[in-house]
Amino acid sequence: MMRWYKADLHIHSVLSPCGSLEMAPKALMKKVKEVGLDIIAITDHNSMSNCLAYQQVAKEFDITCVYGVEVQSAEEIHVIVLFDDWHKANGFASELYDSLLPIDNDPDYFGDQVVINSSEEIVRFEERALINSSIWSFDQVIDYVQNYDGFMFPAHVDAVSYSIIGQLGFVPSQKEIFALGLTAKCDVKSFLEQNEYLKDYCFIQNSDAHYLNQIGSAYTEFFLEAPTVSEIKKACLKQADRKIRLRLANKENN
Ligand SMILES: [Zn+2]
Ligand SMILES: [Zn+2]
Repeated sequence: MMRWYKADLHIHSVLSPCGSLEMAPKALMKKVKEVGLDIIAITDHNSMSNCLAYQQVAKEFDITCVYGVEVQSAEEIHVIVLFDDWHKANGFASELYDSLLPIDNDPDYFGDQVVINSSEEIVRFEERALINSSIWSFDQVIDYVQNYDGFMFPAHVDAVSYSIIGQLGFVPSQKEIFALGLTAKCDVKSFLEQNEYLKDYCFIQNSDAHYLNQIGSAYTEFFLEAPTVSEIKKACLKQADRKIRLRLANKENN
């Protein structure tokens, strides 16, 4: 049966150097439950090494946690990429890892990059600096996402830094780009007034939480048959009665 799901598809874990260590899985899921979200995506910078652990804990809390990552392209554009299938997600993640510059993280400056297991034990510290760009261009990111059957949307397009509009000045018209991420504080109405050419895109507002108290600051509602990435993609394309609505803007997004 189809129903509405509340989703926040852009949340960082303790693996992100800028993410707080308070974002350990149990505390994070507790907060997700508290604010009433049904679907989340853990989207660390350029790595999916914590996805499985967080997903396992999410199950205990009856939360759907899909596999995600926030890719930073060579142009310094942030892109959220989501997968239903771990095998494909993992294939994408290992190619992405190989595309990162071989520079070590500086934990004193950026913070630790902590890989943990579902019991919240530290498995290792990721040494490669995840904060840097991949050598993949934005167009190559699109190609890799297609190859691995993922769903992507440019992140926080209304932000000045690390967004497709901030870096390129506009959203290029490409059939693979039909959904755009927004920051939690985005005023969608005035954003659309300033960017009228984007009115037919589907907008997904997320918290981009790095701290627990940011979880729930924004989310998007999806009308789906099941809480999966392929259903979310269908909703963005308005296929087969799937729908999407922005919570904060209080405006039906279709
Ligand atoms: Zn970002
Ligand atoms: Zn982010």
